[in-house]
Amino acid sequence: MTNSVHTHQPKKLLIVGGGSAGWITALYLHKYFNQQGQHLDISLIESDHIGPIGVGEATVHSIRFLFAALGLDEAELMRDTNATLKSGILFRNWMKPVNGKTHEYFHPFEQQRHSGNLDISSEWILGEHYLHQRYDQGTCASSAFLEGMQCPKAPMSHPYQGLVPYGYHLDATLLGQFLQKKGLEAGIKRVVDTIEVVHVEDGEISSVSSKSTTYEADFYIDCSGFRGKLIEALAEDNWISFEDELPCNKAVAIQREYLPGEVPKPYTTATALSHGWAWQIDLVNRQGTGYVYDGKRLSKDQAEQELRALLGDAVTTKDALHLDMKVGCRKAFWVGNCLSVGLSAGFIEPLESTGLHLINLGARLFATHFTAGQCNQTIRDSYNRQLSGIYDDLKQFIVLHYCLTDRDDSAFWQQAQRSADNNPQLTEKLQIWKHKICEFMDLAGGFTTTFSDENYRYVLYGMQHFPSLHACIDKQQNHTLFSQLKKHSDNLMRQSSSHQAFLERLHQRPLFE
Ligand code: FAD
Repeated sequence: MTNSVHTHQPKKLLIVGGGSAGWITALYLHKYFNQQGQHLDISLIESDHIGPIGVGEATVHSIRFLFAALGLDEAELMRDTNATLKSGILFRNWMKPVNGKTHEYFHPFEQQRHSGNLDISSEWILGEHYLHQRYDQGTCASSAFLEGMQCPKAPMSHPYQGLVPYGYHLDATLLGQFLQKKGLEAGIKRVVDTIEVVHVEDGEISSVSSKSTTYEADFYIDCSGFRGKLIEALAEDNWISFEDELPCNKAVAIQREYLPGEVPKPYTTATALSHGWAWQIDLVNRQGTGYVYDGKRLSKDQAEQELRALLGDAVTTKDALHLDMKVGCRKAFWVGNCLSVGLSAGFIEPLESTGLHLINLGARLFATHFTAGQCNQTIRDSYNRQLSGIYDDLKQFIVLHYCLTDRDDSAFWQQAQRSADNNPQLTEKLQIWKHKICEFMDLAGGFTTTFSDENYRYVLYGMQHFPSLHACIDKQQNHTLFSQLKKHSDNLMRQSSSHQAFLERLHQRPLFE
C-alpha cells in the first residue's frame, strides 16, 4: 500500500458503478462539496451489460437523514419507488416454539424512554413482566404500531419526521432509477461503458479503460459491486471473510403478489428457516421475499423450494433470482487514490438491512476525510480504521441474533449456537450480561454508530436471555411506570392513521381492494 502524497486537493473524481452505492456517493459528495463552495468534477461510469444487484429493499431508520441531506423530496421518493414505511423487524422462529407457540420478537428503531432510578429494562425484568408479555411490547410504543398495522408517521407530519422512528421498504430497481434521475439533474456526468482494465502506477490508479476509451481522474471510487473491479487491482490480499462467524453465503429472491385483502405491513419479517432465514418486505404493489442461507449445507433448489413453501399459495411475479454473497469486508477500504464503497467495500448479511446504511457512512466519512487536507496515509489510515470498526461492530450485532438461539434442528442451527466462539469480545459480554443488563458503557470503545445497547437489549431479551437481577423494586411504582408507558403509546397511536390509509393518501388513490 502506497505512502504517496497528493500535494493538491484532487478535483476530478470518477465513480465506477451505477448501483445505489455509485449514485448515493455521487449525490452526497456533489452536495457536500458544492455547499462548501468547492467544485468537484464528478463523473460516473456504469456498464450496460453488468446490471446492479437489484436487491436490498429495506433500510434502517437513519437513512431518512441521508435522504434529507441529499435534498430528496420524501413523498416523491416514496411514490417513485413504491415504498412503504418500516418501524422495525419482526423476528419469527429464531427460537424453538414454546407450548406449540411460534417464537416471535420485534426489534424496533425506537429508543427506550428512561424511568426514575432504575432503567426501563431492569424495571421490566424485576417486575417479571416477561411472564405475560414480550419485552418490546412492554418497553416501546412501536410494538403497538406493529400490532395495529399503524403508520409510524402522523397524517400531516413534516417530511422525514415520525411519531416513532421509521425507515423504508423500497423497490431496489426503482430506487436506482430515482437516484440516477436525481444525479443527472444535479449535473453529475454519466457515461455508459464497461471498464476492462485498471492501470496502476506506484500504487495509485493512473487511468481506467474500456474497449474503446481511457478515462483519467485524480481520484477513483469503486462502486462496482461484489467484483470490486478497481480496489482489487490495487491491493492483493485485501479481504477479511466473516464466514467463520456468519456462514450464510447465498440468497434466493422471489417477488410475489398480495393475496386478496392483504395490505403492506409497516415492518419487515425475518423468519428463521432450516439453514438461514427469509425476509418478507412489503412494497405498495408486491412483496419482496428472499432466503439467505448457508450454501455449503443447502443446494439452490432446496433453498428455492423451502422459500416457496413459506410463501404458500402466493403468486410469484418473476423467476427466482439466485445470488452468491461475499460476506466480509476490505482490510483497507481506501488504498492510494481509490476508495471502495458499497458491496465492493464489504457486505454483512442483510438481517438488519444495513447495506444502504454502510454506503451512507462510507460516503459521509469520506467527505470529511477528503476535505481534511492532503490525501496522505494518515488520512487514509484514519478512514480505514473507522470503517473497520463499524464493520466489526455490525458483524458482532448480527452474530448476536444467531448465537442466542436454542434451535438445534439442523447442523446449521447447532453451529449458530456456537457462532460467538470465534468472537471473544462478544463471548465475554454475553457472560457479563447473564448477571447485569446490557448498558451503553459495555459497548463503548467500539464504533457503535449503528446499533447501541438499546438495540442489543431488544435482541437479548427478545431471545429470552435475561440477566438474573436481585434488586428490590417498589411494585406500585413499577406498575405506574408501565401504565404511563402504555398511555404514552396509546396517545401516539391516536395521532396516527393506518399504514394503508397513509399509503393511499400518498398516492391519492385506493391501492388495496
Ligand atoms: P451493485 O448494485 O452490484 O452495482 C454495481 C454497479 O457497478 C452496476 O451499476 C454495474 O453496472 C457497475 N459495474 C460493475 N462492473 C463494472 C465495470 N467493469 N465497468 C463499469 N461498471 C461496472 N441493503 C440494504 O440496505 N437493505 C437490504 O435489505 C439489503 N438486502 C440485501 C439482500 C441481498 C441478498 C444482498 C446480496 C444485498 C442486500 N443489500 C441490502 C445490500 C444492497 O443490495 C447493496 O448494498 C446496494 O444495492 C449497493 O450495491 P452496489 O451499488 O454496491 O452494487
